[in-house]
Amino acid sequence: MKKSYLLSPGPTPVPERVLLAMAQPVIHHRTPQFSKIFAEAAEKLKTLFHTKNDIIILSSSGTGAMESAVANCFAKGEKVLVVNAGKFGERWGKIAEAFDLKVTWMNITWGECANPADVKAALDADPEIKCVLIQATESSTTVKHPIKEIAEITKSRDVLFIVDGITGVGVFDIPMDDWGVDILICGSQKAMMLPPGLAFIALNDRAWARADKVKNTNFYFNLKRERKNLKDKTTAFTPAVSLIYGLREALLMMEEETYPAVFARHVALGKAVRAGTSALGLKPVTKHLSEAMTGVFLPEAVNGKKFVKVLRDDFGVTFAGGQDSWEGKIIRIAHLGYFGEFDMVIAMSSIEMALDKFGHPVKFGAGVGAAQEILRDRFEVK
Ligand SMILES: *Cc1c(COP(=O)(O)O)cnc(C)c1O
Repeated sequence: MKKSYLLSPGPTPVPERVLLAMAQPVIHHRTPQFSKIFAEAAEKLKTLFHTKNDIIILSSSGTGAMESAVANCFAKGEKVLVVNAGKFGERWGKIAEAFDLKVTWMNITWGECANPADVKAALDADPEIKCVLIQATESSTTVKHPIKEIAEITKSRDVLFIVDGITGVGVFDIPMDDWGVDILICGSQKAMMLPPGLAFIALNDRAWARADKVKNTNFYFNLKRERKNLKDKTTAFTPAVSLIYGLREALLMMEEETYPAVFARHVALGKAVRAGTSALGLKPVTKHLSEAMTGVFLPEAVNGKKFVKVLRDDFGVTFAGGQDSWEGKIIRIAHLGYFGEFDMVIAMSSIEMALDKFGHPVKFGAGVGAAQEILRDRFEVK
């Protein structure tokens, strides 16, 4: 037996309460019994999204919601601006190109975040651009983009702002109505404490106005049809019944903790990991770290691919490594979703032990201790 720990930025661990909720017998989805649970979950999602808009629940991974945003709001040949600061930004562009949109790529060096002034300049330079597509957290580089600042620019123009908040929603607040985000997207297996399989998408009036004009080129991800079904507390096709049970439970747990406390926990865990990795001499991959996860460069002498593999297969601790040009060079430590203080201690201690095994000089406890110094403020003994 080897106990395993999931410290990757998605999928993330699922709480026992959610697992138990999902173990209930499957009921038929066209029943008042299911509709009640579904409607409760959909209503609770509005609090999480900080919006009065409806949240559409799709049975798909997060990318399904990304695809549905593009497919429902734009016609062939329309121009969109894609902020490409990593793998997920690139995905926006690939989806848009798959639907024959004209993509203006704003390519950003890995580790950098979008500069709102550059977005403004790009929109000024080309009034044909109908939309800006971005991530709240670009998970491949662990970078947080300045969403509020970019929304300031788009909301005064006829330009939709579409945010992939798959590793943002539930990590930090993205009040879509207050900020003027037109479409906000989330997925189940990151901060939502659920298994993979659900995606969430909210459109504001501006975005619906566009969707109402555009002829759908797809069938399954038809948001207008889903909006109509949502009014009747149902979905167009068979929903992932068990995951909806889990969703309601996970949202209940977040409400019990309270959202300010959820966000504060993410901040604290992030700080602890940064203090710990810094004490081990590991440099962050960016100055713009998201509260969702922390990416750090591994020592040059360490084979990063092997490092992550040894941690996973021999130590039982799963982290994410790097992608593309950062493959084998970085490690990404997740702290989004169902994570507590002592998970970060496991993260630090397992990295210390792996560094030691890879011949890198380590003072055992240095990273753990630095993390503890941050985390101690989280506890008060009365
Ligand atoms: C995980 C993730 C996605 C979605 O990936 P799926 O595999 O489709 O769920 C999209 N964007 C970001 C930023 C992510 O981290």
